[in-house]
Amino acid sequence: MVDFMLTEEQQRLRELVCKFAQREIAPVAAELDREQRFSQEIVDKYYEIGLLHSAVPEEYGGAGLSSLEGCLVAEELAAACGGVASYLGANNLGLMPLLIGGSLELKQELLAKHCAGPNLAAFCLTEAEAGSDVASMRSTAKRVEDEFIINGTKQFITNGGVAGLYSVFASEQPELRHKGISGFMVPANTPGVSHGKKEDKMGQRAADTREVIFRDVHVPAHFRLGTGLDGFKIAMMTLDESRAGVGAAAVGIARAALEAAVAYAKERKQFGKPIAQLQAIQFMLAEMAMKVDAARLLVWRAAYLHDQGSRNTKESAIAKCFAGDTAMQVSTDAVQIFGGYGYMKDYPVEKYMRDAKLHQIYEGTNQVQRLVIANELLR
Ligand SMILES: Cc1cc2nc3c(=O)[nH]c(=O)nc-3n(C[C@H](O)[C@H](O)[C@H](O)COP(=O)(O)OP(=O)(O)OC[C@H]3O[C@@H](n4cnc5c(N)ncnc54)[C@H](O)[C@@H]3O)c2cc1C
Repeated sequence: MVDFMLTEEQQRLRELVCKFAQREIAPVAAELDREQRFSQEIVDKYYEIGLLHSAVPEEYGGAGLSSLEGCLVAEELAAACGGVASYLGANNLGLMPLLIGGSLELKQELLAKHCAGPNLAAFCLTEAEAGSDVASMRSTAKRVEDEFIINGTKQFITNGGVAGLYSVFASEQPELRHKGISGFMVPANTPGVSHGKKEDKMGQRAADTREVIFRDVHVPAHFRLGTGLDGFKIAMMTLDESRAGVGAAAVGIARAALEAAVAYAKERKQFGKPIAQLQAIQFMLAEMAMKVDAARLLVWRAAYLHDQGSRNTKESAIAKCFAGDTAMQVSTDAVQIFGGYGYMKDYPVEKYMRDAKLHQIYEGTNQVQRLVIANELLR
C-alpha cells in the first residue's frame, strides 16, 4: 500500500524548517535579492539548528536526513527564498560526490572538519564550453607521483566564492570523453584556486554564483574520488540524488506563489467584488494547485525510491523537470492574478517568477531531463 503520511518526526522537521525559514529568511529575502547579497548570517543560523549539512550521515557530523526529508526541508526553504534555498542546498550538492565516491579515510578527513562549522561546499562540473555536454570539458587532472595537478575553469558555480570545499570534475584522458573524467575534492585554500566576479543574475540573486579557476592546483592522490576515470558516473549519480531536492525547491517557490495569489485574489476587489469570485481567476488557482500537488508527489516518489536504494534516474528527471516547469507556470500565473501590481517589486510574485526560471536551467536543463526520461523509456 502507498502511504503518503509523514512520520511525526518528519512533520516536526518540516515545522522546524518552516518556522526557521519564515523567521530568518522570508523577512530579508527581498533585500538580499535587491542587493544581490549572500548572507553568511543565515548559514550560521542554519548551522546552529543542525541542518546545514543535512545530507551528511551523522557519523561524519551531519544531520543524516533521508532524501525525502531533504525534500521537505528544501520546499520550506525555497518557499521563503529561492536563492537562499539554492545556496544552502548547494552545500549538500558539493559534498555528495565525496559521499558517493570518497574513501572512508577521505570522508573522515574532510567531512569531520567541514561539518564542524557553518562551512559551505560547491559542485564544480560546468564549464564555459561544456554545459549540457559535460564530456566536452577542458579541465584536466594529471598524476605526478603522489599528487594530481588540476587545471581548468568552472563556470556558474553556486557558492563559487564562498565555499571552503569544492568537488571538481576534470579529465585525466580527454580523448576518452566522459570515460576520461575523474572527480576530486579540492579545499578552497589550496594554492592555485581562485574565483571570478560574481555573476549578476536574473533571479536567485542571494546565491553567490561565480567562475572557479584552478591553476596548477596540487591535491594529494587520495583526494581523487572513486577508482578514477569514473567521475562522470559519480557526477551523474550525484545529480540523480540531488534532482529530487531541486524539484522540491521548485515546489516551494510554486507553493509560495500560489499562496500569495490566493490571498491577493480574496483581497483585491474589481467590479465591486473580490476577484476570487471570478471564475476565470478560480480556474487559474485550481490549475495552479493541481500542478503544485502533482509536482510534490513526483518529488516525493523520486526521493522515496532513492531512500529505498532503488535506481531513480527516470523518476528524479521527471520530478525535477515537472516541478521546474510547474514553478515557472505557477509563478507566471501568480503575476497574472496580481495584474499590474504583480509586475512591481513591491509584491513578492515577480521574484518567484525570476527565481523559478532557474529551475528549468540548472542541474541539467529541462530539455536534458526530457532526453534522460526518453533514454530511460527506450533502453
Ligand atoms: C545560476 C546558475 C547556477 C548554477 N550552478 C551550478 C553549479 O553549482 N555547479 C555546476 O556545475 N553548474 C552550475 N550551473 C550550470 C548549469 O547546470 C548549466 O547552465 C546547465 O547545465 C546548462 O548548461 P549551459 O548553460 O552551458 O547551456 P547549454 O548546454 O549551452 O544549453 C543551451 C540550450 O540548448 C539546450 N540543449 C543543449 N543540449 C541539448 C540536447 N542534447 N538536446 C536538447 N536541447 C539541448 C539546452 O536545454 C538549452 O536550452 C549553474 C547555472 C546557473 C545559471
